[in-house]
Amino acid sequence: MTGTGRTRTILFLIADTGAGHRSAANAIVRAMAELKQQRRQAPAARGRHPATGAGDAHPAYNMVIVDAFEECSHFPLRNGVFLYGPAIKYSPRLYGRIYRATNSTQRFEAARRICQPFLRQGLRRLIERIQPDVIVSVHPLLNHITLQVLNDIGIRIPVLTVVTDLVSIHCAWFARGVDAYSVPTETARQLALGAGVAGKRVRLLGMPIDPKFARAPEYTREQFRAELGLDPTLPVILLVGGGEGAGGLRLAAETLKYVDLPAQLAIITGRNQRLRADLQRELGEFAMPTHVFGFVKNMPTFMRAADVVVTKAGPGTICEALACDLPIILTGAVPGQEEGNIDYVLDNEVGLYAPTPDDLIAALDRLIEPSGSELAWFRENACRLSHAQASFDIARLILSYVPAGKAPSVWGGWSKRAHARRPRVTVLRHVVAARMPPLPVPIGARLRARRMGRHAPNRSYVFGLARMAEVRRLLRRERDAQI
Ligand code: UDP
Repeated sequence: MTGTGRTRTILFLIADTGAGHRSAANAIVRAMAELKQQRRQAPAARGRHPATGAGDAHPAYNMVIVDAFEECSHFPLRNGVFLYGPAIKYSPRLYGRIYRATNSTQRFEAARRICQPFLRQGLRRLIERIQPDVIVSVHPLLNHITLQVLNDIGIRIPVLTVVTDLVSIHCAWFARGVDAYSVPTETARQLALGAGVAGKRVRLLGMPIDPKFARAPEYTREQFRAELGLDPTLPVILLVGGGEGAGGLRLAAETLKYVDLPAQLAIITGRNQRLRADLQRELGEFAMPTHVFGFVKNMPTFMRAADVVVTKAGPGTICEALACDLPIILTGAVPGQEEGNIDYVLDNEVGLYAPTPDDLIAALDRLIEPSGSELAWFRENACRLSHAQASFDIARLILSYVPAGKAPSVWGGWSKRAHARRPRVTVLRHVVAARMPPLPVPIGARLRARRMGRHAPNRSYVFGLARMAEVRRLLRRERDAQI
């Protein structure tokens, strides 16, 4: 408790598929922390509600970011989500097929029904433990399930969605019951309206990027280069491939190995450890001075030090580059999810598309010249298009949904209601379990048990996919028969 009432909790739900969702949540949290700090320093502003500008005192709040799949899901969903990185690196076409195949309301609904049981209880436990006052989903696969779980618990709190894709927006982003959406582009807004979301619920606020991008740089480009250990006098070609170091990053690095431009290369491989090790081994073969980095935590410094960024069409990286007025060269895109971003960059004339080695060399030739007119044109457009303050606007939107400090918490007296809702499913589960035929204990488990001098595990430990499907089938039958 504070002077203004109960401390509120804002729960951000993300998934570490790529690094964009976590970056976006971090950016909003940092913006909120800065707003909090500003309020502390300017007591006159205290007590004004961010939405109305007047009224009740502003509550104190905590912010929690949780990777819902890491913390709450289990096999096979958990493992499936972890395959995102390898999938976009080694089998992007397959990923694209899955993305497209599920991008219709009906098919997504079917996929959701299959996947939901592997997350639902875990997410419920998390929400019951944290007791948030507002939930912000920053991932398309977490919107529907969050609403479902709140319904299971029997509680109504504001749920907001921050859309972090620019143009290709999967239908999973839009779920009936979400109180407000923040979208980054007009295209995304139109798609939200097309998906049946009421206009008043959709706010075009931009892409949340680190608040550092919103501030005027405190150093010169040369000073930023020196801070990173780069040559302060040479232009920097920054190569990135999102958090996973994917989307043609290896090909781009291989292509530039024997190209000699009056510049230096800074290659960020993200979580792609193998690429980092390979490039570090081959450093001596690069014609230009080259520096290889793994996952970096100071992307704003890298962007401020760079003269041009070569990247896959990741929305986070594109918007960060725009905030630094950097020209963008796109080498690839995650199929389905990021393909629209190529058009976004080309249509807005802020960069070039270079899918082949020849295209990349030609594009760099055009853009590396500091006095080039095309470079100036791209920079001007980037300045016009960028919305570096987006994190603050989104933070204010979220704060407008945080209940006022003195308002009673919806969680007060909740456990009674939750208890009242639970039994039906539990009873049904027991009825079904009692009727389930025993499943054979796998041979491996039996041998392990014998080796350890124990009894073979109980069949309840053997909860494979087949059993899951059977349980669901029986549950449905029991329900239909209205037991
Ligand atoms: N990023 C980072 N360190 C790295 C690589 C990437 O902080 O070493 C951040 C980058 O600044 C951006 C996000 O990760 O905010 C990548 O998002 P994007 O949408 O471009 O690609 P994703 O990784 O989601 O596929």
